[in-house]
Amino acid sequence: MFRLINVEGRAALDHEGSWYDLAGLSGDPGLADPMAAVSRHGELHALQGECGASAPGGPLDGTLLGPPVPRPNQVFGIGLNYRAHAAETGMAEPEAPLTFTKFPSCISGPSSDVALSGEAVDWEVELVVVIGGPTVGVSVEDAWGSVAGLTLGQDISDRLLQGAGDRPQFSLAKSFTGYGPTGPALVSPDAFDDPDDIGLWCEVSGERMQDSRTDDLIFSVPVLISYLSSICALDSGDLIFTGTPSGVGVARNRFLAPGDTIVSGAEVIGGLRNACVAGTGPLQL
Ligand code: ZN
Repeated sequence: MFRLINVEGRAALDHEGSWYDLAGLSGDPGLADPMAAVSRHGELHALQGECGASAPGGPLDGTLLGPPVPRPNQVFGIGLNYRAHAAETGMAEPEAPLTFTKFPSCISGPSSDVALSGEAVDWEVELVVVIGGPTVGVSVEDAWGSVAGLTLGQDISDRLLQGAGDRPQFSLAKSFTGYGPTGPALVSPDAFDDPDDIGLWCEVSGERMQDSRTDDLIFSVPVLISYLSSICALDSGDLIFTGTPSGVGVARNRFLAPGDTIVSGAEVIGGLRNACVAGTGPLQL
């Protein structure tokens, strides 16, 4: 297994509370870039095992981490992918994955601030799949073999913009700068007892809002990969936000405000902590 992290833009491994610079550990400067490390994820298992015999770069505590996959080429988002969440929105369960994009410029780190774009900005904790290499037309049975690892994400969503107009489009409403906190680590699938059953949760200013498991997904991780790869050529570093469980703000009529803190967590992966600050909305036309 491995736990890949981003320390000041450089790929590192997380081992027992310390970080180890990947290029230093391997002696290969080509592994300094987190995107290169994702594409060479097969090599990281052995390097993770070497951490114990090397000097750490420093303690994880107090180290500001960046997004484990800072420059994905493609970022897919899946809507209404938990039954209880589809029910709370009053929408029918989709017959195929309801797919939108989060434009890659929205991707931020595990402790990045969220600059709110309006009065109806919502939280959505999600398991995020990171593709490991070229993936076209992969079968459901083989789809886990296309995965470099899993991380945690927040699909921050401006509900006013998401629902605006006669033909609402999700993508821009979920793509304001900083609306894609991810991290803290990219964890290989073999680190999980069952990568199809991972607990995840979200608290806003201390109140538990979401608490579920990925075995409740309508379309599982391998089904999503197989479906998306039947249409788009996937490749190393592509992200799939797999959908959010029930408990979002729009179903509670409670939205994010400056001063709120969003704390998200997932088994094995770890947590995100994102402070909400005042931001600016879209240009009014
Ligand atoms: Zn979402």
